[in-house]
Amino acid sequence: MATASKEMIRGLTTAAVTASINPCPSPPPQRSTCSIRIRRQIVSPPLALSSRQRQFLRLISYSLLPLASSSTACSSEKVPNPLQVVCPLLRMEGLWTVSSIEKNKGLIEHLLQYGSLKSNKVAEVMETIDRGLFVPDGNPPYSDSPMPIGYNATISAPHMHATCLELLKDHLKPGMRALDVGSGSGCLTACFAMMVGPDGHAAGVEHIPELVAVSIENINRSAAAPLLDGGSLSLHVSDGRLGWPELAPYDAIHVGAAASEIPTALLDQLKPGGRMVIPVGNIFQDLKVVDKNLNGSITIQTNTSVRYVPLTSRAAQLQE
Ligand code: SAH
Repeated sequence: MATASKEMIRGLTTAAVTASINPCPSPPPQRSTCSIRIRRQIVSPPLALSSRQRQFLRLISYSLLPLASSSTACSSEKVPNPLQVVCPLLRMEGLWTVSSIEKNKGLIEHLLQYGSLKSNKVAEVMETIDRGLFVPDGNPPYSDSPMPIGYNATISAPHMHATCLELLKDHLKPGMRALDVGSGSGCLTACFAMMVGPDGHAAGVEHIPELVAVSIENINRSAAAPLLDGGSLSLHVSDGRLGWPELAPYDAIHVGAAASEIPTALLDQLKPGGRMVIPVGNIFQDLKVVDKNLNGSITIQTNTSVRYVPLTSRAAQLQE
């Protein structure tokens, strides 16, 4: 069975390489083992295939492209990338050969190269928290794409985790307090906890109890487990639009789902000098960077256009 799957994937890999004859827009492919393999195959002499075989492979590769757009349509990410269709398949092949630590490292290298990761501290933390522990089985965890986690939710794309951590890093120093609204898989909450350390606090709020249970299991297998044990990382089932007043005020607030307006409760729970990163909008969304100045006034900047799942009621989310 395993042999059959490998062969199938190898077949699709060849199809994917055929697809790469078409020019691919930025961002560049990840510098993981598999993408190195793509480049090698692109520059090697043409495969000795008959015209019928070529046509067949081209057909398969084209039929994969719509899958990419539909799977990313309502997920959190900055730029849709056609290569993300083919890379997951290529990366699956790597599952048999490369350890998850190495693959997570490859992902971090890609984020550094692509420019989403800028600082050593954030890169270090994202390398320590293995994304593979937070993505449900059957999905390629080290692909730079959002992945479904159930209940109409996704774990955000790694480049969005990197972007938000970079935007918040000066507000995630050891001893500081962070709130992660819509904590989902728990991956980013775990990164916040690693940044603020045992003397700070990272609280995740998520309104789907099953996701909170899974996120606790995920974190317990990760490098952030001692922080959960020690109490400086906590996860709560609640409506995140109300924040988590018990631990307020926060130096950093991250919202992992798009709000139609910035919730007042979150503004209230932001410390003077603190920063909130929140996607705002419905169909068209912007990642907003909200700074509460020391005199209590608010400054809002737009960072980039994004696509996140909505910040909504539990009933509305489950009905989607
Ligand atoms: N940062 C998370 C993103 C998960 S997707 C991750 O990378 O894993 C957004 C999450 O927001 C979903 O898990 C969804 O269930 C949650 N969510 C949406 N509306 C919410 C609300 N009102 N209160 C709390 N969580 C909410």
